[in-house]
Order: sequence, then structure tokens, then C-alpha cells
Amino acid sequence: MAGTADFSLKPEVTEYLRSIFLNKEMLAAVGHQEAECRFQKLLTCLSHPPSYTCVRASTHLVPLEEIQRKLHEELKTREVASVQIVPHPRIADVLLLPVDGPRPVEQLSSEVVVGAQCGSALLRGAHVFAPGIIACPKYMKVGDKVSVFSDLEGRCTRGATSFQGNKVFVGNGVAEMNRSHIFCSDKPLRGVGVRMVDPLYQSPPFDGVLPSLVFLQNLPSVVVGHVLGPQPGERILDMCAAPGGKTCHIAALMRDQGEVVALDRIRNKVERIRQNAQTLHLQSIKAFCFNSVDAVSDDPPQQTEGPPFPPESFDRVLLDAPCSGLGQRPNMACSWSLKEIRSYQPLQRKLFHAAVRLLKRGGVLVYSTCTVTLAENEEQVAWALSTFPCLTLEPQEPHIGAEGMLGAGLSLEQLRLLQRFRPELSWDQTETKVPLISRVDGDTIGFFIAKFLKN
Ligand code: SAM
Repeated sequence: MAGTADFSLKPEVTEYLRSIFLNKEMLAAVGHQEAECRFQKLLTCLSHPPSYTCVRASTHLVPLEEIQRKLHEELKTREVASVQIVPHPRIADVLLLPVDGPRPVEQLSSEVVVGAQCGSALLRGAHVFAPGIIACPKYMKVGDKVSVFSDLEGRCTRGATSFQGNKVFVGNGVAEMNRSHIFCSDKPLRGVGVRMVDPLYQSPPFDGVLPSLVFLQNLPSVVVGHVLGPQPGERILDMCAAPGGKTCHIAALMRDQGEVVALDRIRNKVERIRQNAQTLHLQSIKAFCFNSVDAVSDDPPQQTEGPPFPPESFDRVLLDAPCSGLGQRPNMACSWSLKEIRSYQPLQRKLFHAAVRLLKRGGVLVYSTCTVTLAENEEQVAWALSTFPCLTLEPQEPHIGAEGMLGAGLSLEQLRLLQRFRPELSWDQTETKVPLISRVDGDTIGFFIAKFLKN
């Protein structure tokens, strides 16, 4: 059952992560037993969702209390049993809703198997979309009650009728399609294949709920926008922007006054940025499909408003870097090799070079990732400080996460200026009596934020 599962990784990746969490500096500071305990806790908590859902409220359009009230009413009409909605005590545009789980759900004899990614989405309140189904009972028909399992190692054969491999139970649902439709249809498969009625973790449904007023976003991602501190009238660059959660937050914090340039190198993802901006009624966002490594040019400026840009074009730059994503929760399995995981550091450095050149003197650069490795976080900060003497580390506001992690040779003073969200330091699912509000800042995805000033 998912309540006891750990994050499943290739052995070489597990060993790599262990070497990070049990690095020499860390062992000297906390001892072997504590370091190993934290590492094991990390693997466990990564496979479980945080104990609350976080939404960012469009306070550029409507006051928070009114959004909170509207959300209550909307969820009531969707027959969600009295759900608690709590404003974050320090972040003025965040509402938190508790997740109920792991719940005691009894397993049924009919089994549906889905891929690990789909399984993770189910732990966050999604239904099973038909293309995600890998195996189901031979005679499954609409209306059948089934137990849903996530295939952790990607070993289940598509179209199988059962699977005995490494799988994790994620809850019960009702089939909305017959087996023949799922596996024998000539047309592209769309729609819900199994509607989850008894999930292991129950979260409020957010599909189409107040789309212009609430935006599902992890708490550390909301913190990034505040740490960047955009001001009305400024020109901001978001270098790796899709689907645009942080871009839209930046524009909202600027009251939609100024210009937010959003770049992403994948064309259809850029469309998502535009859609999100439109849904949230934000006009100051200009999104372009572009490789940000090449976003700076010394050639005379062109007449177009898009990239590439001359050096020192922006007041603030956000580099929310492509990364190995190992802090994402819930994540029951990652099939990547060590080579793939280590491939991000060089790309992040190329992007960082462009970021520093594009930033005006006196401007702010925020670097963030949703991963837990030192190579993509603290080591990048140490590299940046030695490569760019013009950069200094800045304090962050709000600072609700932990400080940076030992192991990259940074001083304690430098580590204090970094913000690392480390769920392994506080995660304990048996602590259900601790009020939500006391748990939220420690029970997040794994995330990292560094803020620099260009002098
Ligand atoms: N900031 C986004 C948000 O909050 O919604 C999430 C960004 S995600 C961590 C990283 C993004 O970087 C991906 O959408 C990916 O397509 C994009 N990306 C990767 N390499 C890039 C490059 N060289 N130039 C621009 N975008 C890139």
C-alpha cells in the first residue's frame, strides 16, 4: 500500500543521492545515524503528497477573503464535504486546503494498473485518464468497481489482464470505459477511463474551479515570485517559463503594470503560458518560443520586441531552471539514469551565463529548482559566486524554508541566505494532531531558491 512505499529509483541514483545526504560536511555536523535517517525519510516523503493543497489566489483581481468565500461556495456546489480553507499566515496570496490521507481503503479483487506518473497524479486527486491505463481485467465494463495500482518500474505490458510486479495501491474507482474500448479502439483515446471514488488521498477537485481566481501551485513556487520582488513598471525576464505559473504570479505582483517577458524553448508549452495569462486576465506578459541560452545578443538591437535582447535589458531575471525534478511530490518512481540526472548542471550554467548578462546593474537574479541534488543547487551557487564577481547573495523574503545544505563548501553565512525546502526535516505522517498551519512550511516539495544582486 502507498502508505508504506518509498520512492523507487535506479540503484545508482539511490547511491548518488545517499552520497549527497551523507556527504563529509553533513556527517561532521549531524553524525552518520541522523544523516542516514534524514535520507531515508526523504525517500519516503517524496512518494507521498504534501498534507495540503496550495492555491495561489488572484489578489490582483479580488481581495483574498472574497476569493476564500467564493472557493468555499464553489466547492460546496461540487458536494465536497465541509472543506477547510486557510490563508497562509505569512504569504498574502496563498490559500491552503488539507488533504485527507492516507485513508483506510480496502483493496478489491479487480485490478487496473497505471504508469508511475499517472499513479502520482492520482495521489494528488486526479482521475485515471484512459491512455494512462496499462492493464485491466479481461472483461472490465463500464460501472465495474476496481482497485487502481501504480506500476513502479514500468514493467507491466500494455493490454495485460493482471500484473504481479512491483506495484503500489492508490485507491478504488469505477470504470467509465469497457476494456475493449481502451485497448482495441482505432481512434485516439481520450477521457476518463476510471473515476476515482475512494482514493488513498482525498484532495478537493480543482478542475475548472474559479479559473481566473485560483491557480494550483506548490508553496515554494509561490515563494519564488515574492523573493524576486517585482515592482509595477519594471521589465522582468522569466527565462524558462512554461507553463507560466511563476510568470503569471510575477505579472500579478506588478499589478499587471510593466512587462514580463516569458521564454520557453518548447513551442506548445509557450501556448500554455499565453492561455494561463489570458485566464488570469494578465496583459503585461509577452511569451516567446526561444532557447534562453541564446537570449542575449551584442548585435545592434532589432526593431522586434522579442529575443534576443541586448545585455542589461532587464530589472529582474528569474531562472527557474530545467532540473532533475527529484523534489517533486508525490513521485513514486523515477526511471532516469545517473547520467540523465547529472546532465542538468552544464545546461543550468549556460542559462545562468545568459541570465547574468541580461540583468541590469543593480538588478535581482533569482535561481530556483525543484530538485534535491547539491550539483544543481548549492554547488551552482558556489560556482556562480566564483565565476561572476559582480554577484552577491541577498536575503530572501519570505524565508519559510530551511537554509542551504552543507556539502558544497559554502560558509554558514552564505547557507543562511539560501532557501532550501527540505520535507525530510519535519515530515512525519503520524503527527496528524499537529494543526495544518504549523505543518505547511515543512511539508512541501523539495525545492531550492537563491537570490543574487548584480553589483
Ligand atoms: N517556471 C515554470 C513555471 O513556474 O510554470 C516551470 C519551468 S520548468 C522547471 C523548466 C522549463 O524550462 C520547461 O518548460 C522547459 O521546456 C524549459 N527549458 C528547458 N531548456 C530551456 C532553454 N534552453 N531555454 C528556454 N526554456 C528551456
